[in-house]
Amino acid sequence: MHLLLLGGGHAHALALLDWCTRPPPGVTLTLISRDRVSPYSGMLPGLIAGLYCHDDIHIDLAKLAERAGARFIVDDILGIDATAQTVTTRKGQHAFDIASIDLGSVPERRHVAGVTTRDLAPKPLAPFLSQLGGIAASGTPLSLAIVGGGPAGFELALALSHRLSAQLTSLTLLTDAPDILMALPPRARRLAWCKLRERRIEVLTSVRVLSRDDQGLRLEDGRLCPANHVVWASGAAPALDLSTSGLALDAGGFVRVHPTLQSLTSERIFVSGDMASFDPPRPKAGVQAVRQAPILAQNIRNYVAGHPLLSHNPHGDMLVLLSNADGSAIGARSGLTLDGRLVWWLKDAIDRRFMARFA
Ligand SMILES: Cc1cc2nc3c(=O)[nH]c(=O)nc-3n(C[C@H](O)[C@H](O)[C@H](O)COP(=O)(O)OP(=O)(O)OC[C@H]3O[C@@H](n4cnc5c(N)ncnc54)[C@H](O)[C@@H]3O)c2cc1C
Repeated sequence: MHLLLLGGGHAHALALLDWCTRPPPGVTLTLISRDRVSPYSGMLPGLIAGLYCHDDIHIDLAKLAERAGARFIVDDILGIDATAQTVTTRKGQHAFDIASIDLGSVPERRHVAGVTTRDLAPKPLAPFLSQLGGIAASGTPLSLAIVGGGPAGFELALALSHRLSAQLTSLTLLTDAPDILMALPPRARRLAWCKLRERRIEVLTSVRVLSRDDQGLRLEDGRLCPANHVVWASGAAPALDLSTSGLALDAGGFVRVHPTLQSLTSERIFVSGDMASFDPPRPKAGVQAVRQAPILAQNIRNYVAGHPLLSHNPHGDMLVLLSNADGSAIGARSGLTLDGRLVWWLKDAIDRRFMARFA
């Protein structure tokens, strides 16, 4: 049986790690991903702020695939045909008996007119880092707008304010929600506001961005948010358009799955991470993909062996740790909020321990 792993996201990286010691019997493994390395999301803002180097936060997919006995193909996946059981890539076509999708997401910008390729988006990371390097090297004055008031937007605002402080003339964080970090307890939100004020980051809440032009962002209420560069950290859209794949999708284009992580319409296709759409919906977060990984690894083994599959039943409350890009962090869980250097130490230790598993 040929198992095609599509994308080297968090769930696939951990499943491959599992299969290094307990591979699914009788299965030939192929991993296709765009790059030889894959970033670990928890450390991404730290890399942008300059607290980590490139290798600290990147999983070496080529090395991992070799350890797991998988063939590794660096290629861009362009489409999936669930009925024909084929995947089209930039360089060719691949047949599968079982496929597993872990392609992640990109910021949602489909409703905004005028978005240009000059705009920045943290996913995919490689072009973002190279654009950011160019901006930093130019040394030109920078008015920056970051769209998205969730954890990614907040951490990016502080990381970029730290990294580009010599160039920044203004930095504005915009959200269409009534507050930033809406999923966090009120005390965590107050601490976050303090951090943003300390760094002189302006925050606009309850604003909808209609379009982007040379002057900046045009808002629904008629205002202009001036910006010569825009960073999109707004919600999530699928990393790959699967509208012609034959898979059942939700309204946002993500693949609807059973708790077993199988597509609702194709039991041979597993989906994990941001690309998976559950009922009821779950947050798009790396930690979700990490929690799904053991279920994915075991269920593929079980599917091949004809055994019953396990259900992914996440407990709702997640520990959220947000880097303030200054050696401190905010932590929140079950309504409890902590902040300071000790929280950063904890976050750094958890993240480094995660990465050490792939060393
Ligand atoms: C700034 C920022 C900070 C974040 N911080 C956190 C955090 O602290 N904690 C947390 O839980 N979540 C965080 N997130 C969210 C987190 O990044 C995502 O939820 C997580 O990465 C999703 O994991 P995944 O396994 O679905 O896919 P990803 O880890 O995104 O991996 C997708 C993989 O697929 C590959 N790929 C994509 N498209 C193609 C294609 N067409 N062809 C070939 N390969 C392709 C990519 O190269 C990549 O290897 C953050 C996000 C951002 C933007």
